[in-house]
Amino acid sequence: MKDEQAAFDAIIIGAGFAGVYMLYRLRDMGYNVRVYEAADGVGGTWYWNRYPGARCDAESLAYSFSFDEELEQEWEWTERYATQPEILDYAEHVADRYDLRPHMLFERRVTAAHYDEAANLWRIQTDEGDTAHAPILISAIGCLSVPALPDIPGLDDFQGERYQASQWPHHRVLYEDKHVGVIGTGSSAIQSIPVIAETAQQLTVFQRTPNFSVPAANGPLDADWVRAYKKNYRAHRENYKWGLTNSFGDLTIDVRHSEPVAEFGRDINDEDLEVALEESWKKGGASFMSTVMDSMANQETNDRFAAFIHCKIHEAVDDPVTAAALCPTSHPVGSRRICVDIDYYKTYNRDNVSLVNLLETPIERITETGIQLSDRHVELDMLVLATGFDAMTGAFNKIDIRGRGNKALKDKWADGPKTYLGLMMVDFPNLFTITGPGSPSVLSNMLISIEQHVDMIADCLTHAKEQGAQVIEPTQLSEDYWMQHAQQMASQTLFPKGSSWYLGANIKGKPQVFMPYTGGVGGYREICDKIIAQDWRGFSFTAHA
Ligand code: NAP
Repeated sequence: MKDEQAAFDAIIIGAGFAGVYMLYRLRDMGYNVRVYEAADGVGGTWYWNRYPGARCDAESLAYSFSFDEELEQEWEWTERYATQPEILDYAEHVADRYDLRPHMLFERRVTAAHYDEAANLWRIQTDEGDTAHAPILISAIGCLSVPALPDIPGLDDFQGERYQASQWPHHRVLYEDKHVGVIGTGSSAIQSIPVIAETAQQLTVFQRTPNFSVPAANGPLDADWVRAYKKNYRAHRENYKWGLTNSFGDLTIDVRHSEPVAEFGRDINDEDLEVALEESWKKGGASFMSTVMDSMANQETNDRFAAFIHCKIHEAVDDPVTAAALCPTSHPVGSRRICVDIDYYKTYNRDNVSLVNLLETPIERITETGIQLSDRHVELDMLVLATGFDAMTGAFNKIDIRGRGNKALKDKWADGPKTYLGLMMVDFPNLFTITGPGSPSVLSNMLISIEQHVDMIADCLTHAKEQGAQVIEPTQLSEDYWMQHAQQMASQTLFPKGSSWYLGANIKGKPQVFMPYTGGVGGYREICDKIIAQDWRGFSFTAHA
């Protein structure tokens, strides 16, 4: 089936969790909706990221939809942190349970989206030649959906098996009897390295910048515990929405367990801090960072967290040279997304695993048979690239998006993304960006942020209808204010010191602007709710002439 000049009330790009829930809401509101999806199934990030060991670093019971109490009661998660296959099953279950697939076209990549001002329509095209239009266009394209290939000479010369973590093939990949090389030590690598190490003959990890990682303390979920938790699901969800238990959620029934032990690092002595961090470490998960509330705002507090993790790395890794190389010193803990691992550091004690510190022996080039370092050649049968993404703006730049007066989004964002609330943009009327730059998105549990944005978009469309308005757009003043506010908020934290993908620092030539909103899901929701209560302050609703 192919769409030709097809007319819809709304078009959604992407069938990940954001696209799925947006479709659910709009269909319920009586909209005729089409979703275009590049993959041949739903799931978004969980469709593509099939690398070994892939699992969520937010807890299953919190990283799931809350919009339907029946759904949350009936779905059974098996582990504290769900694996990629289990999350993909869940996404498929949701699509089937609500009969959403008939509104979706798969294996269609939207290549262009142009706003026709005279008709007040967004006209889209796909790589399969579909053409369609709708007054409302919603981007659900994900924050981490465009892989970044490393800029290393000779990459295409390699004659062995080569895989990209975020584009993992659907067939089974076998490591037995193979010399495997992994480039990168971000979350994807840190999850896959221990799994590949189990069966590879030899695994060599090529590390440029070490990252901080905390243990997941993963395990099967206890049925009685889950039952008790689900009795209070509404209360837990409410806490997550407002960020009361930290946006990563909490596995304890009693939410007090995750309350920070101190607001400021200066209020807690070294001995007490050590005890508190030890407890958080054992408990596992990224909420380790909220043991003291100013860990991401105060360098001294952060340094104490870093020292604690350095000790843990030295405790876990037998070889002191390897341990030292694994200790990050170039950035504050958490300023690059903290990793959550299962036995990552211990993996370096295996006889078949070695670490190459690229800061000492950089890669000169990739050859037909391996990697040429400054001092030696490493022979490889398989190369795994876990080299990250062109985050947050990359997926927008892949589409030729044009607003009023044929203005290109690429040009508008030439110095960094500009949005109001990460949700809409001046000159791009009726284009909504779910978890767009300028919203908490990647600094939060994505499911919570997705639901909030989708509900807000649904309310916004209802409001427009009530007003008799067909054109929704933020004002220039509100967009400018929001960008200024978001940058000011970020500057009060240690996040900008991370030289991370949050800033676009991993992509050559990308403008360095801190992209996600650092004010937290609770603070952000409060602002959005106030804006709505004040008659959608900062948005203009006008009739189409
Ligand atoms: P990433 O954090 O950006 O890590 C990319 C790695 O590749 C870095 O170690 C980087 O080193 C290295 N690299 C890039 N180019 C290189 C080069 N030319 N030579 C040597 N090394 C190079 O990417 P990621 O691991 O895919 O994770 C990205 C984000 O996705 C995470 O932060 C997280 O938000 C999300 N994610 C989440 C989960 C989860 O929920 N469990 C799992 C995976 C990913 P440098 O730092 O030196 O550039």
